[in-house]
Amino acid sequence: MRPETRAVHPRLPAQAGSEPIALPLYAASTWAFDDPDVLADAFHSPHGPFLYSRMTNPTVRALENAVADLEGGAASIATASGMAAINLVLQASLRTGDHVVAQRRLYGGAATTLRDLSERFGIVVDYLDDATPDALTAALRPDTRIVYLETISNPTGHVADLPALSAIARAAGALTVVDNTFATPMLCRPIAFGADVVVHSVTKYLGGHHDVVGGIAVFADPALHEKVWHYNVEFGVAADPFAAWLTARSLQTLPLRMERHCANAAVIAERIEDHPVVMGTWYPGLAQNPTHEIARRVLSGGFGGTFAFDLAGGRAAGTELSKRVRLARLAPSLGGTGTTLMHPASTSHRQLDEAQLAAVGIGEGTIRISVGIEHVEDIWDDLDQALS
Ligand SMILES: *Cc1c(COP(=O)(O)O)cnc(C)c1O
Repeated sequence: MRPETRAVHPRLPAQAGSEPIALPLYAASTWAFDDPDVLADAFHSPHGPFLYSRMTNPTVRALENAVADLEGGAASIATASGMAAINLVLQASLRTGDHVVAQRRLYGGAATTLRDLSERFGIVVDYLDDATPDALTAALRPDTRIVYLETISNPTGHVADLPALSAIARAAGALTVVDNTFATPMLCRPIAFGADVVVHSVTKYLGGHHDVVGGIAVFADPALHEKVWHYNVEFGVAADPFAAWLTARSLQTLPLRMERHCANAAVIAERIEDHPVVMGTWYPGLAQNPTHEIARRVLSGGFGGTFAFDLAGGRAAGTELSKRVRLARLAPSLGGTGTTLMHPASTSHRQLDEAQLAAVGIGEGTIRISVGIEHVEDIWDDLDQALS
């Protein structure tokens, strides 16, 4: 062969007698086949040989298997972002005229998607101001397809009564879809409580180092996984192998990081609660939190690392605090190793007007803090000087 050809076809090292101890990053977009019949068959299912990375990829598969395992699901689909996972699951499961029941306190992006599905595609959505079993029972209809919940709501820290709500949804023939981003499988495994699908923004705790955007959907039922996988192929929202590789690496320390996030957040929440410029703290670990009793049943090992609090000084105080923190960074994400905080009214929930903000329980002086894994006294010193 001539150099031009040899450059394109390097010989790959054969693997015999040893294997890599860490997950290889397969950047390949496509796989070469010896047998055309095997190639033809590979198109039909996620379980055949790897063929094209919009469909399946070994590095992405390793992440999917790891998260399915942690969540106690049958299989999962890693996606380009948390929003991709949410849209994939909703659009694969719903058709025009279907009914959805969702809690009112939702991540802003999920709220926007539900509004869009209802305004543009004729999906009917009813919201639960208080996601109690009675409220869900009253909202269900014969054509309800999905009950959409967040384990710990972003940013208001309400914990959903997953065992009760998913049992009611199941009895009515609806799928329970739970966004488990804030809890992670270290604190809660919704499938064990009866959920059908768990979605994550991998960008947050699963990625955990402020360097990945990704999502994942985990399925209790392998048949539903396979059905949604076909839409994943159609929509083209598969995770990039490098993002999947970074996330798989991060998962190794998820238990350690969550332990520290939770321990630090518990200390910070208690001290913030006592601070004279703070009107209220929405941390599910505090006894006065409206969902504390549910949190004690649904979460184990901690109450999460992200919560919100209200400054008495309203919007001006929120802006002032954002300027005065030094260690904590003003950033519109959460779940990373470093402490971040932000002001939802002007960022994540900016799509909502004042009445809608009030309906999801966010005030003008609400601050959301994602407590990092730094030394807790350094985090507190910084907040204390900024609050004071
Ligand atoms: C951030 C977030 C999402 C969206 O995830 P992206 O990775 O930003 O698309 C969904 N749900 C919750 C609870 C989140 O915090």
